[in-house]
Amino acid sequence: MKHCDVAIIGGGVAGCSAAIHLARRGVNAVLFESKTYPHHKVCGEFLSPECGDLLNDLGVMPDVLVHRPPALDTIRFVTPGGVEWTTRLEEDALGLSRYALDDLLMRQARDLGVEVHEHTTVQNIQKTNGKPFLLDVHTHSGDSDCVEAQVVIAAHGKRSRVDTALNRSFLRRSQPFVGLKAHFRGPHTGTRIDLFTFPGGYCGMSAVEGGVVNVCLLVQQDVFHRAGGVNEFVAWMASQNPLLGEWLAQAEMLYPRWLSISQVTFAPKNPVEGGLLMAGDSAALIAPLAGNGMAMALRSGEMAARYAAELLSGTQTLDAYAHEWRAAFGERLRLAGFLQAVLLRPALLEPGLRLLNTIPALGSYFVHHTREYTAHSRLETQ
Ligand SMILES: Cc1cc2nc3c(=O)[nH]c(=O)nc-3n(C[C@H](O)[C@H](O)[C@H](O)COP(=O)(O)OP(=O)(O)OC[C@H]3O[C@@H](n4cnc5c(N)ncnc54)[C@H](O)[C@@H]3O)c2cc1C
Repeated sequence: MKHCDVAIIGGGVAGCSAAIHLARRGVNAVLFESKTYPHHKVCGEFLSPECGDLLNDLGVMPDVLVHRPPALDTIRFVTPGGVEWTTRLEEDALGLSRYALDDLLMRQARDLGVEVHEHTTVQNIQKTNGKPFLLDVHTHSGDSDCVEAQVVIAAHGKRSRVDTALNRSFLRRSQPFVGLKAHFRGPHTGTRIDLFTFPGGYCGMSAVEGGVVNVCLLVQQDVFHRAGGVNEFVAWMASQNPLLGEWLAQAEMLYPRWLSISQVTFAPKNPVEGGLLMAGDSAALIAPLAGNGMAMALRSGEMAARYAAELLSGTQTLDAYAHEWRAAFGERLRLAGFLQAVLLRPALLEPGLRLLNTIPALGSYFVHHTREYTAHSRLETQ
């Protein structure tokens, strides 16, 4: 049996952030990731300005800039009826693929001494009062092992067998969305992020490194299934929003097929369950239109690492983590959920965007309050 102080389940942005912060504190941490690096992920790949400080703290900004990620400074919403609302971000954001980002974060964790096990899935977790956690770990090649850990950070993303093992209540709520993503080469989108709405969903489009455009969308499951297949759905979506359809018709898809995820839910979750510190999407998924999920994942990874170290020394409690987590993220989760509900109702959306065109301060309020700005949150693109 293997022993460690802290086991981290999942090596996305939250898990890698936790791993790097633990290594910096000299804590012995082991990270388990089901996939191998690098890999593509369903994500809008928009790194909000708040990520600047967080990536600097992790010491990876030079590696980020090696990829020459384009700066993004404007968001435009476009409805099927052609109503538009455009707003400038308070600070520049960056477009960087998850293929590059997760890989460079994992490398930083490994360079700092974290044991990273790729192609390794945590299948189950057991905990007996007063004893360490026992993790049932399986490798892709069929080997299995039992790992003993004093503290566990669960950073396994939106949904995983870990949630089933913990019998988490959000699994019994409806899981109403499907996400799709692909990279394209197409007409230049410049420094703008476009959000095209259509009945039952929205599709984001913005530049990432290498002159590539990322197209990523979220759609209600019933709308998606009604089309009868991925390509049929994309053709239907393109017919609903003429500007989106025009762009897609001129673009070349760089993936063999769309990447997809299903059973996406925004149901509330708890930041602590079964004695585990939840970080990133395993603690809560913010509506993608806020473009703030990765910032929340990076930040909650740091928070979980800090609490893990303090739990080991007996100076903090799990309740305190849950309290700090809710104070940090509760408000933006609620506001983003409300904005997504409006976006999915065409009858509310067009009058809403007209209102934002009339009262620009209202739009700035929404952009500001779905994220957190610090004095130094600027992403330096050099
Ligand atoms: C459609 C859509 C668009 C989005 N667009 C944006 C955007 O533009 N900007 C933004 O900031 N956010 C965006 N988000 C949100 C963002 O993608 C997430 O918030 C972010 O990926 C969360 O990171 P994470 O580390 O928590 O989870 P993930 O990145 O999902 O990482 C979890 C990792 O855990 C691994 N794993 C799972 N189970 C196990 C297990 N049992 N054992 C071992 N490993 C396991 C997985 O393989 C995965 O690598 C979007 C989300 C969606 C759905």
